[in-house]
Amino acid sequence: MPEKYQIMSKKVLTPDITSISVYAPLIARKARAGQFIILRAAPDGERIPLTVSSTTDELVTVVFQKVGDSTMTLDELNEGECLQDFVGPLGEPTPIEGVKRAAVVGGGLGCAIALPVAKALHDAGAEVDLIGGFRTKDIVILEDEMRDASDNLYICTDDGSYGGAVRPGLRHRAAGDDEIRLPPDKAL
Ligand SMILES: Cc1cc2nc3c(=O)[nH]c(=O)nc-3n(C[C@H](O)[C@H](O)[C@H](O)COP(=O)(O)OP(=O)(O)OC[C@H]3O[C@@H](n4cnc5c(N)ncnc54)[C@H](O)[C@@H]3O)c2cc1C
Repeated sequence: MPEKYQIMSKKVLTPDITSISVYAPLIARKARAGQFIILRAAPDGERIPLTVSSTTDELVTVVFQKVGDSTMTLDELNEGECLQDFVGPLGEPTPIEGVKRAAVVGGGLGCAIALPVAKALHDAGAEVDLIGGFRTKDIVILEDEMRDASDNLYICTDDGSYGGAVRPGLRHRAAGDDEIRLPPDKAL
C-alpha cells in the first residue's frame, strides 16, 4: 500500500510545468471542482496552495509552475517520494448545479484550473465550450483531458501556431448565437 502523501506519478508537461498525482484518498474522495490543497514538500518548506486539477478514488493530481524556491523544491521530488503535508480540500467549490451551457476559459497553467470546472459541468450534463489559450503550440498542456471534459474544445495561441487568440476565438464561438453574451473587450 502506498504511503501517506506519496507521489504516485510525476509528469513534466513543459519545462516549467509539472503534474504530480499524490496518494491522499480522503481528500480525493471529498474534493470538488474549484477547490485547492495546501502542501509542504519538506519539513522546513513553505506552504504552497495548489488547485486540485483532477482526482481518482485515491489520488489527487495537482499541476504546478516552477516560479520560486518552494515550487523548485517540490519539483525535485520524484515518484515514490512523500510530501511532508497535504491539507484539503480547501475553498468553495465552483457552483455547478443548474448550469445548462458554459464557456470555460483558461490560459496557460490556468487550463489546469479550468479543466476540473469544465469536467464537473460536463459530467453534470451541461454543454461546455472549453477555450484554452497558450502563448505558442509548444507549451499546450492537457489537450486530451480538456477535449474529454468538453463538448467543444478551442485551443488558441498568441502567435497563431495552433489556433488564433482567445478573444477572437470567443467571438467566433458567439457569432450568431443569441444565448452567448460576451463581456466587454476590456474584461477578456
Ligand atoms: C488558491 C490558490 C491556488 C493556486 N493554484 C495554483 C496551481 O494550481 N498551480 C500553480 O502553479 N500555482 C497555483 N497557485 C500559486 C502558487 O501557490 C504559487 O505559485 C507558489 O506558492 C509560489 O511559491 P514559490 O515559493 O515557488 O514562489 P515564490 O518564491 O513565492 O515566488 C512567487 C513569485 O514571486 C517572484 N519573486 C520571488 N521573489 C522575488 C523577488 N525577490 N523579487 C521579485 N520577484 C520575486 C517569483 O519570480 C514568482 O513569480 C495558487 C495560489 C492560490 C492562492
